[in-house]
Amino acid sequence: MTEGRTVSSPTTDLPPPDVALVIAAHPDDAEFGVGATFAKWAESATVLHHLVLTDGSKGTWDPAVDQVALIATRREEQRAAARALGSTGACHFLDRVDGELVASTTNRGRVAEVIRRLRPDVVIGHDPWKRYRLHPDHRAAGRLCVEGVVAARDPFFHPEQLVDGLEPHRPDALLLFEADEVNHVETLEQRHLAARIEALEAHRSQMATTHFYRAGEGDPLEEFRRREARRLRDMGDLVGARLGEAFHIVVDQL
Ligand SMILES: [Zn+2]
Repeated sequence: MTEGRTVSSPTTDLPPPDVALVIAAHPDDAEFGVGATFAKWAESATVLHHLVLTDGSKGTWDPAVDQVALIATRREEQRAAARALGSTGACHFLDRVDGELVASTTNRGRVAEVIRRLRPDVVIGHDPWKRYRLHPDHRAAGRLCVEGVVAARDPFFHPEQLVDGLEPHRPDALLLFEADEVNHVETLEQRHLAARIEALEAHRSQMATTHFYRAGEGDPLEEFRRREARRLRDMGDLVGARLGEAFHIVVDQL
């Protein structure tokens, strides 16, 4: 969960969009990727939507866990996290099996349909070109986000969707988080970091496996909060800001 190279002069701070859609592989990925930026945009009344592609059913180290209950828990956690960011949009769930997400034409069509329905000005997702990323869902989710944007804008992709009043849609910007090459930073304030941490902590079922992963000595929750603050300081440093979230922004192919 670190950023890659950075171009010499990253751009900063898009105008707050009217509607933003984050497309994430699992519940909690969106908060790690764009949580503080979402909290900032919520102050400008941006309608924030989440699209979570998998059911999160492998998000545990406990082989005896009830996966049906885990799926339900993680949905509620995702909704609580969105509320913590100030979201007035909705959490949408595609419910593909965790760990088995593929960038298929069918899944791409489902993503395009959501984009055509919600008509976001900015779409945010995983960077599918992030090198050495191990988790297959993160690569597939990145591809589905990028390719879903293309399919949503062009009328001959999934034309069957366009009969009930849906129209092709072209966002103004695409932001990719955990970017292989950072070229854009959203600058942030302490309260946005606080909202990001509160949202991440809403994913209670993931604390042991994700948030406290490789925690050292001491209180793991405090260490998690310090690590989050350090990460946003490092990303802010890229543009001389106190805090930030870094992305690869794409605007010229939309
Ligand atoms: Zn994930």
